[in-house]
Amino acid sequence: MIVVSSCLLGMPCRYDGSGFRRPDIIEILEGRDVLPLCPEQLGGLPTPRTPCEIVNGVVMGKDGIERTGYFRRGAVLALEAISKFDVTVALLKEKSPSCGSSLIYDGSFSGRVTKGRGIFASALVDMGVTVFSEESLKGLISFLI
Ligand code: SF4
Repeated sequence: MIVVSSCLLGMPCRYDGSGFRRPDIIEILEGRDVLPLCPEQLGGLPTPRTPCEIVNGVVMGKDGIERTGYFRRGAVLALEAISKFDVTVALLKEKSPSCGSSLIYDGSFSGRVTKGRGIFASALVDMGVTVFSEESLKGLISFLI
């Protein structure tokens, strides 16, 4: 079973109500068992929602309101769903404060990124799940061979 950020499968769950059209990802995943998850929606945040970034370890909205609790709750509920399956690998959306696996936005809401992991990606890595992003698809393909 492969955990996948729902937005990478085209589901309109991003902060602005959009998703991504990625035929290359659909092709890689075709015929495989996939568990799509959006931890931010699971955590109770609406769609569309205020964009958030991680600032000094807490998740802040662009409106200045802290939303760390929603992100943590979303990660816990996502892990609960994952625990029902045999999951060893995930494909997560890079740069997200939830799903980013090697880069996240730097907290300045200016589009700049920094090295780091989102709340959900971090929890998955702690569980021993191997995490790839849409920017490391070659690694995912090698893992799946
Ligand atoms: Fe996509 Fe993850 Fe953000 Fe949901 S939380 S929109 S799955 S990047």
